[in-house]
Amino acid sequence: MSRVRLLPDTLASQVAAGEVIERPASVVKELVENSIDASGRSIEIMIRRGGISLIRVTDDGIGMDRDDALLCLERHATSKIRSAADLAMVATLGFRGEALPSIASVSRFRLTTREKEAIAGSEVIVSGGRIETVRDGGEAPGTQVEVRSLFYNLPARRKFLRSENTETRHIEHQLYLQAIAHPEIAFSFVRDDRLIFQLPATKNLRDRIHDLLGSELLARLLEVSPGAKGRVTVTGLIGQAGVSRASRAQQFVFVNGRAIESPVIGAALKEGYHTALMKGQYPVTFLFVALDPAEVDVNVHPAKREVRFRDPSEVREAVVAAVRRSLESDRESWQEQFRAPAPSTVVPFVRPPEASPPEPIAPRFVSPTPSMAQSRFAVETQQSSFSPQRPPPQKQAPTAPSQFQILGVLNKLYVLMENADGLVLVDQHAAHERILFEELRRRMEEKGVPSQRLLLSQVIELAPRDAEWIEQNMATLRKMGLGVEEFGRHTFKLESVPPFLSAAEPARLLQDVIDSLKSASNSSSPLRLGEDMIAKTVCRHAVKANDYLREPEVEKLIHDLLACELPYCCPHGRPTMIQISLGELEKKFGRKV
Ligand code: ADP
Ligand code: MG
Repeated sequence: MSRVRLLPDTLASQVAAGEVIERPASVVKELVENSIDASGRSIEIMIRRGGISLIRVTDDGIGMDRDDALLCLERHATSKIRSAADLAMVATLGFRGEALPSIASVSRFRLTTREKEAIAGSEVIVSGGRIETVRDGGEAPGTQVEVRSLFYNLPARRKFLRSENTETRHIEHQLYLQAIAHPEIAFSFVRDDRLIFQLPATKNLRDRIHDLLGSELLARLLEVSPGAKGRVTVTGLIGQAGVSRASRAQQFVFVNGRAIESPVIGAALKEGYHTALMKGQYPVTFLFVALDPAEVDVNVHPAKREVRFRDPSEVREAVVAAVRRSLESDRESWQEQFRAPAPSTVVPFVRPPEASPPEPIAPRFVSPTPSMAQSRFAVETQQSSFSPQRPPPQKQAPTAPSQFQILGVLNKLYVLMENADGLVLVDQHAAHERILFEELRRRMEEKGVPSQRLLLSQVIELAPRDAEWIEQNMATLRKMGLGVEEFGRHTFKLESVPPFLSAAEPARLLQDVIDSLKSASNSSSPLRLGEDMIAKTVCRHAVKANDYLREPEVEKLIHDLLACELPYCCPHGRPTMIQISLGELEKKFGRKV
């Protein structure tokens, strides 16, 4: 007896719908994408009860004639591609011809549509996949789709829906994505009869972000700096160093205009923001990646949420470089903040006649050395092989000392400065961490991390898997300044370590390094791994809170900080500087409300 049988059409659609339509937000996504593909200039979205009871999307696009209005409800009916060749370079958001039949099979569905020139439009009513009514409908040119009682015929699905609020949030996120991808289209969103937003069409992304998310966020975004012309271009706006969120909620990424979630790009952003964000924080991005459509496969995810790149590393590198470039380009305006006010407005700070400071706690820095960072390391690395000569590090001459006004140091930790805006506080520890970090990284890039021989080499036995891993990564470890030799089965000899690492417990150290390297993605370069190691260790070597610094040392610190590539934050992403504006002070003192 044969057991294989074809599914009835409606059931087949419901099965397919399971993949495309996960929740109300998926319906919104598909409908809005259709409106965009249909050249809508103005799109209205209306929902009730988290989209579960009603979703209505109305556009002023090209509309459909009667035949198309019926045909578009068939599975695999699409106007967007015709051949396999088209699939390789899809330029529309949709292309599968699955969305409408899927939605119609799991809801009470009503489509009204009219072409511009047509005298009459059409109305099609479908319930649970069965067409119930087809008639003339005289609506305005364009298309309106109404989806009621989503999943009414699939109780199991319906049970999986979250609260109305959660579903609403997902819908809103969808709309944000679409609105950001298409500033040239006007959007309005009504939720339970309340107008949530109304976005006028605009020519530029800035205006759209302003209308959607406000001027405060906009002020903290950087334009992605253009790079050398390559096959992958990256544009958009991204958060300044330190502007972050605890989730990816504001990490908007678009590939050829399509909102996507991409682990490749996510990792690239993380890498680009390396040392500019705190651990566990995500950058805020409105990132547009463009490349030849033939280089991207958009047909890998049922909801078209993911794509596959033919050359992921090319995309990754382009994104990393774009982020780095942009963050570094922000330096000048940041340095500007350190400028003291015009001389006429400065009331010079009157110092008490050489009030002898509290006995310096074994001052670590002696000012006449070329650099504070240098002096520390020069002491520590006397026996090491690298020359203590500091390479000409600054790409740019540091700001002249007269341009900033140091008022003093608070609590042996915060350098107080005055600028045109008011008060600037610099965390001397964070600042010094940043300076040391960049200094060491520069050396590592130039000649590998210097290595210092241990007085007694250490023999360390490792678990077989770790041992195997070490064998494979010996070169990387050397580059990082860890001199490891094989010394028998699963046994290694650690002969030298970077001078800035404490080798009190070499076995622990090696194990730590193995663990962190293993957990790092394999796409990480040895350089990046070395960087991580440096970032972890500089902290212990940087000026601590309550290290007393003399005035020239403070000045040097600020100079060196201003010359850093990413001066805004320490290598762990904590800010180095905080500005308290005169305006804020006025508010605090009740001079201004
Ligand atoms: P796809 O978008 O993958 O082509 P859909 O099921 O979403 O598949 O839509 C099927 C077809 O219906 C589209 O190709 C398009 O021709 C037509 N269509 C859908 N929505 C609209 C709309 N809002 N305006 C005009 N035509 C539309
Ligand atoms: Mg579609």
